[in-house]
Amino acid sequence: MANYIISASDAESIAKSKNLTVPQLLPSLVQSAQSLARPPISNFHVGAVGLSSDGRIFFGGNVEFPGLPLHHSIHAEQFLITNLAAHGGGPKLLYVAVSAAPCGHCRQFLQELRGVCDTQIVITDQPQENPVYKPISSILPDPFGPFDLLDQNTPLILEKHDNKLSFKDDDFLTEKFSNLSNLSNGYSELVMKNEVVLKNKALEAARESHAPYSGCPSGVALMDCEGKVYKGSYMESAAYNPSMMPVQAALVAYMAAGGGGYERIVAAVLVEKEGVVVRQEETARLMLNHVSPKCELRVAHCV
Ligand SMILES: [Zn+2]
Repeated sequence: MANYIISASDAESIAKSKNLTVPQLLPSLVQSAQSLARPPISNFHVGAVGLSSDGRIFFGGNVEFPGLPLHHSIHAEQFLITNLAAHGGGPKLLYVAVSAAPCGHCRQFLQELRGVCDTQIVITDQPQENPVYKPISSILPDPFGPFDLLDQNTPLILEKHDNKLSFKDDDFLTEKFSNLSNLSNGYSELVMKNEVVLKNKALEAARESHAPYSGCPSGVALMDCEGKVYKGSYMESAAYNPSMMPVQAALVAYMAAGGGGYERIVAAVLVEKEGVVVRQEETARLMLNHVSPKCELRVAHCV
């Protein structure tokens, strides 16, 4: 299985065995991050490796979806941040190594982390012999970020969120998935057996969502054909467009857990508020229909 996280103790011992510090180790891991990328449109493999404040190393690669508009793509840095956020890697990303200079979209998305200006970045394809770290502030002068719109106390990505949401209709938890006819019998039973877990995980993801700009939190949980559940929270950017949609975040969780082909995803639940200005339902349906046509998506509203 591909490895998307290295534990703090393993990171220390790998670095020690090479006579390096952990930050010095990161550039040598970028190639393995690139091998995790899934870019069938561009064939341009981008890798990002980050050291979090709890000492773990997290990986990310770029992901593209043929047949869908390009804005559905997940960038390597977004994958890395989503992976880190999903695994409680601590409140800070201390160091990051990337295979190519981050695009403007990613420089903007990184602004959603508190104090990211001091995070040290190294770009490994640049032609110096010993790539050197520099602060992210040096690659994004005059930033527009969260605190142009929010007060300092609002939690940012990697900080604890509890949106205190609950299902609008409590019956949703006991209602059965209605349209499993696409699935073979074994899978329908599996979905029925695990659907309460699936629904609760989607609610949990919405509660952890970072949506301070629109006030429209949301979360998605996916179930694979073994009954394993993966959740993803919507994460907004102050600049709107680089926001990470909840289906993409859940797909990152699926890939980071070694989930394999998307067609193995058999059921999904989206939790969001009803009738609000930012809704995920249509785009989530489009995305899931495309990557795993047999997957049934259920939508639950929350309050
Ligand atoms: Zn990017």
